[in-house]
Formats: sequence, structure tokens, C-alpha cells
Amino acid sequence: MIIVGAGPAGSALACRLRPRYRVLLLDRPLAGAGAASRIGESLPGAARVLLQRLGVYDHFLAQGHAERGASVSHWDSDTPTWFDPVRDPHGAGWHLDRVRFDAGLREAALAAGAALVDNGRHLRVSHYGGRWCVDLEYLGQGCAAPFLRTHHATVLVDASGRSMVAAKQLGMARRMEDNLICLYAHLPVDARDEDQATRICADTNGWWYSVRVPSGQRVLAFHLDRDDLELKVLRDPARLLAKSRRHTLFAEVKPATVGVQVHARPAGGAGLDLDALAALPEGFFAIGDAMLAFDPIASQGLFNALATAEGVAHAVERYADGFKDARDRYLDEMRTVHTRYRQRLGETYAAVTRYAHEQFWLRRNSGALRE
Ligand SMILES: Cc1cc2nc3c(=O)[nH]c(=O)nc-3n(C[C@H](O)[C@H](O)[C@H](O)COP(=O)(O)OP(=O)(O)OC[C@H]3O[C@@H](n4cnc5c(N)ncnc54)[C@H](O)[C@@H]3O)c2cc1C
Repeated sequence: MIIVGAGPAGSALACRLRPRYRVLLLDRPLAGAGAASRIGESLPGAARVLLQRLGVYDHFLAQGHAERGASVSHWDSDTPTWFDPVRDPHGAGWHLDRVRFDAGLREAALAAGAALVDNGRHLRVSHYGGRWCVDLEYLGQGCAAPFLRTHHATVLVDASGRSMVAAKQLGMARRMEDNLICLYAHLPVDARDEDQATRICADTNGWWYSVRVPSGQRVLAFHLDRDDLELKVLRDPARLLAKSRRHTLFAEVKPATVGVQVHARPAGGAGLDLDALAALPEGFFAIGDAMLAFDPIASQGLFNALATAEGVAHAVERYADGFKDARDRYLDEMRTVHTRYRQRLGETYAAVTRYAHEQFWLRRNSGALRE
């Protein structure tokens, strides 16, 4: 089996299917370094069962992730609404150190016997003679010239996140559900900042999120539309912080901004066309964000990465046992997940009536962005 992408979804799947299958994980050079600016930190308690099934739970607990504390939101008014995750029957969940989390899953996949190639580029995917072929240009060591090698497998999985590189190669387009962008910065924490709560707040042209993460920093994130004229201005950390502090919920957040960088990340919901995927030759799957990427307000992406890895592991086992409908069943599960997610997302955005006349909220509630 070949898995393109050794993020949480790809590593979890590799871990789950070894030692029964030979697994080759392909990733990009320097993916680990890129992880330093990763966002996507909260993991619900329901993920515990999935981590246990992968055999990584004890190691995960030893990685120093923080237990998720209470969250407070100013959503439809400035009256705070508190939620304490200890009320979650699955447990409170965690604020992750994303770098350690991703690295831990990848190490577990390698320890289970998966092979990793992360010095390749210009990947080409095709299907020939009933097998999937991946042509990969390897970077030569030192002055050596790059060389091409072809890998073959009966199962090919796209786990390359939002870039969905293998699916794109097969002519599949990403179905964008909206144009949300996340601007975020990891801010140093002021000595007086003892706050542990997750803070969420609606604004006229988007919504805010802030929490302290195990690295000791505070993440401050603002989600707005890609065509918003303020996007460029808010790339300046001082402006981003100043805008956040107009809200009482963030007024007491007092980090420094010197030397801080504001990153931008596409954050809108997106996914593959499941009917088009079903029409591809058998043995092709997609998991994690490559399959279905969620709006961050759902805080569901990492759980989905682990759950889809489990779903595809099950499908691959059924497929190997001769069940030809294994992929169709997996895709049916994905249709159900997508429908539930869209319904909850619609309800979440519709709950903000105070800015209902503003473009950001109008777009999400007019039905134009809903199926
Ligand atoms: C602003 C924002 C906030 C978020 N907050 C949360 C949150 O609080 N909680 C939560 O659960 N989720 C959150 N998420 C979502 C979460 O980060 C993703 O769902 C998760 O990273 C998906 O994991 P993945 O393995 O599918 O993809 P990724 O983590 O994107 O991993 C993909 C892997 O594929 C590799 N790759 C990419 N292109 C290629 C290529 N051409 N060749 C080879 N390899 C390639 C990459 O290097 C990477 O290793 C958030 C997302 C955003 C944008």
C-alpha cells in the first residue's frame, strides 16, 4: 500500500495496517520543519478510543499535551457562555502540542515497520494493469542528480491534507464550501496571563479564537473571508492584536507582538466529490483533510483524520477479504458525516443574529454556501 502524506491521518493508517500490509509513506522534504507553525490544537476526548486502537495512547499521554479547560464564548452577545468539557462523557480532551503529536504518530508508524520516503518531489500518479503507480523524482544526495523511481501498489491512499495531491493527479477537483481564511499568530505569554480558557468571539467580519497551548505560547486566530479588504492589514501582528482587544473577551490578553509572525491558512470547509471518487478504479481512498476538511469552528479535523484512518483500515481489510463494496461503504459513512457536519455548522453560524446583516454572516446564512 502507498500512502501519500505522513500527517496524522497517513501515519495513523500506516500504524493501523502494519504488520499485516507492507506500507510506504510518502511525504515532502522538510515537512517536519513546516510543522513548527501548525495550527489545529484541540482534540476531543472521543479520540482516546482511536489512539488506544492504534496502540499509541500511553505514549500520547506522556507527550505533555494539556487537558482541555473550560471555553467561554461571546457568540450572539457579549454575555459570556461557559462550557466545561468535563461534562463531555468521553472526557475533557486535550490542547495539543501539534509538533509532538504529529511526530509521535509518524514515529509509531515507522516503529510498526512502515517505510517513509520524504526526499521525493514531483509525484505522478497513474493506474495501470490493475495497479496504482506512483512515479517519484528523488532528490540526489550532495551533487548527485535527481533520479526517477516508480512504486506500485494495489491500494493507494491520499492523506496529503488540503493539497489532496494524489486525487488532483487523478483529475479530481476540490469542492470548496466557502472561502474562509485563518490568520493566526503564536504569541509569547505575558507573565500576568494565567488564563487557561479557550476564548471564542464573533466579530462583524469573522470570528476569533484564542487559547494557551502546551508550548507555553498563546494562539490568537481570526477567521475571515479571503476577499475581505482587512485581510492584508491584519497580517501586521500589532493590528491583529489591537482588533482583538476591542472585545472585552480579549481585553485582558496582553502578549507582546515584537518578532511575532502572522500566518494565513485556508480554513473553509472543503471535500472531494464522493460520486467522482466512487467512479475511480478500485483501491483508491482518501482520508483526513484530503477527504473532508472542516471549518475550524467544528474543531473536528484531527478526530476526522484518526477516524477516517480507522475507516479506511477497515475497508482495506474487507477489500483484501474479497468484499468488493468495501469502498462504497466507507464513502456512505463519509456522506453521513458530511451531512451531520453541514447541519451543525449551519446552526452554529445562524446563532449569530447580532451581525446578521454583515457580509461574512450573510454569506453563511443566506443559503448560498449551504447545499
Ligand atoms: C485554522 C485551523 C484551525 C484548526 N483547528 C483545529 C482544532 O482545533 N482541532 C482539530 O481537530 N483540527 C483543527 N484543524 C484541522 C486540522 O489541523 C486538520 O484537520 C489535520 O491537520 C488534518 O490531518 P491530515 O493528516 O489529514 O492532513 P495534514 O495534517 O495537512 O497532513 C498532510 C501531510 O501530507 C503531506 N503532503 C502535502 N502535500 C504533499 C505532497 N505533494 N507530497 C507528499 N506529501 C505531501 C504534508 O507534508 C503533511 O505531512 C484546524 C485547521 C485549521 C486550518
